[in-house]
Amino acid sequence: MRIDLHTHSTASDGTDTPAGLVAAAVDAGLDVVALTDHDSTAGWAEAAGALAQGAPVALVRGMEISCVADGISLHLLAYLHDDTYEPLVAELARARSSREGRARRIVEALGQDVPLTWDDVAAQARPGATLGRPHIADALVARGIVEDRAEAFRHYLHSGSRYHRGHYALDAVAAVELVRAAGGVPVLAHPFAAVRGRTVGDPVVEELADAGLAGLEAHHLDHDAAQTRRAIGLANRLGLLVTGSSDYHGTGKPNRLGELTTDRAVFEAIEAGARGVPVLRG
Ligand code: AMP
Ligand code: FE
Ligand code: FE
Ligand code: ZN
Repeated sequence: MRIDLHTHSTASDGTDTPAGLVAAAVDAGLDVVALTDHDSTAGWAEAAGALAQGAPVALVRGMEISCVADGISLHLLAYLHDDTYEPLVAELARARSSREGRARRIVEALGQDVPLTWDDVAAQARPGATLGRPHIADALVARGIVEDRAEAFRHYLHSGSRYHRGHYALDAVAAVELVRAAGGVPVLAHPFAAVRGRTVGDPVVEELADAGLAGLEAHHLDHDAAQTRRAIGLANRLGLLVTGSSDYHGTGKPNRLGELTTDRAVFEAIEAGARGVPVLRG
């Protein structure tokens, strides 16, 4: 079985629509795909519709929650949670709204130096999408200021840039507890990916495990061999599941669907541990 549990659609910063993502998963020969947009489940219905139309793949409905611990940014994957659980819904709405204000502030700062307006950025995002720096990157590409997202991040959008601004993110322990309360299964995405900025120490992961964390995404393109080994070792020590996934963003990143995958037994443990919504089978 080929199982990829981390992908993005136009409901956040991916370039495939949710239905297009399901079609791409079928084309890539996946048996199971999880849709994990940033801070949003807005793509769930359209992706589920593609299965109802007969797409031969199993769909894990999920998301990737922007979190913070000790001032360090963390991404928490949530699988199969109840997307109507109000305390979690409210936190996600707060994060998305903060992301929009932050994107406007980044564009304001950038607009001092390059010809870029808010309308350029708004044109890159589907209505209701979780706004992120990739949409600003796409606007810079559309304006001919950079070649691609990677160059936009290198020159203008990286977290050390003078144009960078932060946004509200959930406390990581609270997020783990909210996902569990919503019947979901929380897995820490790319925990030691230092290319993304500062990463947490083992004690933070221990604290998350105590709060109900189910697994670590050890196999990720942003991990080098040592970081992958560290995640596997820590997962084994704490009794956590080990996952691997592509973090596919369509044409927004070179990551290919199914490039990294999760073992069948781990997927089955995630499904067995969830009480929010079921895995959908096409
Ligand atoms: P944000 O959510 O606004 O903080 O932006 C972070 C997102 O930007 C990540 O989820 C990635 O999808 C994307 N990203 C970060 N670095 C790069 C890069 N070098 N090339 C393409 N996308 C990137
Ligand atoms: Fe992303
Ligand atoms: Fe992430
Ligand atoms: Zn992701």
